[in-house]
Amino acid sequence: MRLAETVTFGGSGLDRAAHLRGDTTEMARRLATGRVLPLWRGKPLLADAGTLGWLEAGHPALAHGRAPVFLGSDAGQDCFAQDISDWTPEAGAEAVEHGFFDASEQRHPALPATWVFAELRGVMAALTPRAAELAATARAILHWHRSHCFCATCGAASDMAMAGWQRSCPACGAQHFPRTDPVVIMLVTHGNRVLLGRSGGWPEGMYSCLAGFVEPGETIEAAVRREVLEEAGVRIGPVRYLASQPWPFPASLMIGCAAEALSTDITLDPAELEDALWLGREEVLQSFNGEHPQIRPARKGSIAHFLLWNWLADRLD
Ligand SMILES: [Zn+2]
Repeated sequence: MRLAETVTFGGSGLDRAAHLRGDTTEMARRLATGRVLPLWRGKPLLADAGTLGWLEAGHPALAHGRAPVFLGSDAGQDCFAQDISDWTPEAGAEAVEHGFFDASEQRHPALPATWVFAELRGVMAALTPRAAELAATARAILHWHRSHCFCATCGAASDMAMAGWQRSCPACGAQHFPRTDPVVIMLVTHGNRVLLGRSGGWPEGMYSCLAGFVEPGETIEAAVRREVLEEAGVRIGPVRYLASQPWPFPASLMIGCAAEALSTDITLDPAELEDALWLGREEVLQSFNGEHPQIRPARKGSIAHFLLWNWLADRLD
């Protein structure tokens, strides 16, 4: 798909300068002159106008931070991310831990009053490609460190290494690397109709493309066919790769595919889907325009939104 890399989080060609990660002296030097993006429990700091809130190393707001991770070099400026989840906001500003979208915002007393920690989902579609790549990378890698503090081989506490791109076990010597979990997401069509579904707990009326994790030992194509058959009882013929999207909620790589349905009868798996239906182009367009009486489209910035939009515009080539 020619437009593949224009998807949100589609990449900006960030120079990750991986060859510098093992040089602790050089990393310390670059940190001193670089800039740091703090994240609090997965939420990046946002400055005015929804841009990323970069701080200099040693800023008081980073006092509770764990070791910084080197993201790369952006136009000659070295960029780091730091997890400050151990900081506790004042009472009444707690994050909403559950639900589809946490709309709460947290303010830090050492920062301007207009700067907030906020859900990346809320601003992802408005960020520049470079800011989106930096924020997605920061969110995914910091989450990996928070959830992989212990060695998977022997259980001992492990240490961050390689400027944050590895964890090393001091007890058994095992090396651990950041995880990315492949997820297939399918634009399933039959003639001029597309198959959409919704899960329980989603905002009312929201429908999106079917998706699921690729299992060990499975190809992308097999995962597409299995997931659609399991969730909706629809059989799939040809499968074609379209575009991919890093999706740091928390650590997925969405693999967008076009899939041609061989059957149209829907048999729902209620454990996976609350509903599924076939929609014609006109109805999908209506939902994108906010004019459909029941159906709301996938969130802007998601690859589902991107695939459906380009399907409507005949731009999947
Ligand atoms: Zn170990």
